[in-house]
Amino acid sequence: MVDAGERGKSGMMQNAIEIRGLVKTYAGGRHGPEKRALGGVDLTIPRGAVFGLLGPNGAGKSTLINILAGLVVKTAGQVTIWGFDQDRNPRQSRAAIGVMPQELNLDPFFTPREALEVQAGLYGVPKAQRRSDEILRLVGLEDKAEAYARTLSGGMRRRLLLAKALVHHPQVLVLDEPTAGVDIELRQMLWENVRRLNARGMTIILTTHYLEEAEEMCDEIAIINEGALVVRDSTARLLSRLDGKTMIIHPEQPPGRLPQGPGLTVTQRADATIAIAYRAGETPAESVLEAVRAAGIRIRDVRTEQADLQDVFLELTRRRAG
Ligand code: ADP
Ligand code: MG
Repeated sequence: MVDAGERGKSGMMQNAIEIRGLVKTYAGGRHGPEKRALGGVDLTIPRGAVFGLLGPNGAGKSTLINILAGLVVKTAGQVTIWGFDQDRNPRQSRAAIGVMPQELNLDPFFTPREALEVQAGLYGVPKAQRRSDEILRLVGLEDKAEAYARTLSGGMRRRLLLAKALVHHPQVLVLDEPTAGVDIELRQMLWENVRRLNARGMTIILTTHYLEEAEEMCDEIAIINEGALVVRDSTARLLSRLDGKTMIIHPEQPPGRLPQGPGLTVTQRADATIAIAYRAGETPAESVLEAVRAAGIRIRDVRTEQADLQDVFLELTRRRAG
């Protein structure tokens, strides 16, 4: 169906997306004061990647994605999609990207097949090149092709939104919080689709609140906070970058006092264990154990936890805020 790797190739261009100095200020009005949602973001997303855009609520993720999709007009900056400048080549840049939006905005009077045909018409896909049945099958909606959208469950609507994003065979697929509030089955189906499309050469950009998902799915990750890029790196490097570890001590008896020492963050947990966070690069495990013994604690059991993306995320967004 999709020949994403080959189409629209223009010379040396290696990136799927290039964003420079992107600013978005929402005009103030009845709903509140002026809001600067993006304060000058530079971001490059390579072709073929599964790229995660993370950040807390209100960080500006949807704003960035909706600018890529042509749904929100940027205030300043330059956006290039698959080598096409959004301002100079609006038609080509729009054709290169498909977006599954965060909101379930579907026309309730169209059947899934009709919705895909209308979308294909909007994107000027010739009848002979339309693949509605194939796309409906891909997202598992072939049985519902003729059902009215208003009779579809939330999960089915989401699948239809994914199908709509695919009708014009874009090289870049953007998913805005695709798994927020969906059940496990649909979540797995979505990720299976993402993997399959990516294996065929499609570049995938997604936002998610579920950091384990980003960790599992994404080759590279950018974190934005308050409209600014905080970090952008490969998932592996991002995780190794913070060498934070936590040692979990299960004491023989409730401790009289907690261990302490430079570089140790100690908390007593509700399950009677003591969690000691430290940096493996700065503090050897042996000094952590010494601090435990110095507090008169006899260890019944001990294990360690690695930092995960959640920790990286908290650390980076906290550091910025502080
Ligand atoms: P995210 O998707 O990361 O949660 P958004 O891009 O939706 O963040 O929002 C970024 C900021 O811009 C938030 O403060 C939000 O309230 C504001 N915002 C988003 N859309 C609009 C709009 N249409 N008008 C005014 N402010 C908006
Ligand atoms: Mg959002």
